[in-house]
Amino acid sequence: MDEEKAYPKSAQAWRRAERFLAGGVNSPVRAFGGVDIKPLFIERASGSKIYDIDGNEHIDYVGSWGPMILGHAHPKVLQAIQTAAKNGTSFGAPTLAETALAEKIVRAFDSIEKVRLVSSGTEAVMTAIRLARAYTKRDLIIKMAGCYHGHNDSLLVAAGSGVAEGKNLRFEIRNSKFRAKGAAGVPDSLARLTIVLPYNDIDAAKTAFDKHKHKIAAVLIEPVAANMGVVPPVDGYLATLRHLCDCDGAILVFDEVITGFRVAYGGAQELFGIKADITCLGKIIGGGLPLAALGARADIMDMLAPTGPVYQAGTLSGNPIATAAANATLDILEERPHVKRGAKYLAPQFIAGSVAVPATAKHIQRPVYQRLESSAAMLEVGLASAAKEAGVTVTINRVGSTMSCFFTNRPVRNFADVQSTNIKQFKKFFAHMLNQGIYLAPSAYEAMFVSLAHTEEDIERTIEAARRSLRKIKR
Ligand code: PLP
Repeated sequence: MDEEKAYPKSAQAWRRAERFLAGGVNSPVRAFGGVDIKPLFIERASGSKIYDIDGNEHIDYVGSWGPMILGHAHPKVLQAIQTAAKNGTSFGAPTLAETALAEKIVRAFDSIEKVRLVSSGTEAVMTAIRLARAYTKRDLIIKMAGCYHGHNDSLLVAAGSGVAEGKNLRFEIRNSKFRAKGAAGVPDSLARLTIVLPYNDIDAAKTAFDKHKHKIAAVLIEPVAANMGVVPPVDGYLATLRHLCDCDGAILVFDEVITGFRVAYGGAQELFGIKADITCLGKIIGGGLPLAALGARADIMDMLAPTGPVYQAGTLSGNPIATAAANATLDILEERPHVKRGAKYLAPQFIAGSVAVPATAKHIQRPVYQRLESSAAMLEVGLASAAKEAGVTVTINRVGSTMSCFFTNRPVRNFADVQSTNIKQFKKFFAHMLNQGIYLAPSAYEAMFVSLAHTEEDIERTIEAARRSLRKIKR
């Protein structure tokens, strides 16, 4: 693609950004390195659309990498932000809104009794790991290849699983996002405390627990992996991890920074009926502002300072503007159906997705999640039929409103499967879609997010664009 011609202002802005910002960006994936195109500079966003500085409109399936479940610039969220800002931007003292937000999180997750608000998912996971280590008085952490948990030292060691010696545990991992071998600047001494296992491999998890009996502080996992594209857990996987942790006295940490309030109001825990010991939240709970959280049973959370010995703090934690956006967002998502007395509530008919939604899931009673499910299912079915028509083989993994279209004819269950997909084809698909005003995540390792702002017309346009793109790829 000739970006100079197609997006002249963005191309010029990129040259300037590269001069003054490290790598031209403030978060690496924004550099579009995964698709060999220069990034677009965004001027504004509204509903399902973003607008670049060259004046092009795009239907957005990135949603700021997950947070924008309501769509961009939702009027109720903007109103809450404006009202809060008028009262001052930061106090460094308790506010009523922080407790109200914590109450909502506790209501949403059966496994959470107390909450600590922080400013990023990275911070939430870092604190969860510290808490797990303090609680268990153990050091080892298990993480899964291809899962991303923020840029914490201990968790950037996907390449450094030197601690593991078992057959299933010693294999070459490449960092999920940048495909570098591990991360520079992470001391070996720290890397040795992280054991990396293949996602969805029940036997590897059992072997690790056999080998490191009573030494594992925590198993950390994205309960639906969404940083190697979307990879749902296979049947029994999360239950096995729960069981292994219970038997060994290890802490099960669900990183629900993406899945929390996304795959269901109560996250993957509600969807799959498995409780974590510690839950990390981010993205959606901030309503597009920097806010994240961790939550757990009171006995775990009370280990945090000031009640306990585990230190954690933040000048802007629970910031009033971010908290206002968070409360406004969750108020909309929490909405329950208004069922008249005596009237029968009819559960929606879900179109078959990649993960069967349990009929008992509370979230099917929430109108917003019904809408998300049907929009995302429409997109999934449309993409699948467009690919079939074009004669391009794809595997679509979808859980609720997050999904990935992998260019492969095989099931995608772990990071190795993702790496074996046709990344070149993805890059071409991405470029053709972008040319038609469809803004997908610029990496085969990232998920698509459908929001409440996506209309039927948006999805039809997307499917039409996919039809044309896939035909071009086939040629
Ligand atoms: N955990 C998961 C599952 C994530 O996807 C991310 C970010 O993409 C993080 C943690 C880190 O969150 P943040 O970027 O807010 O630090």
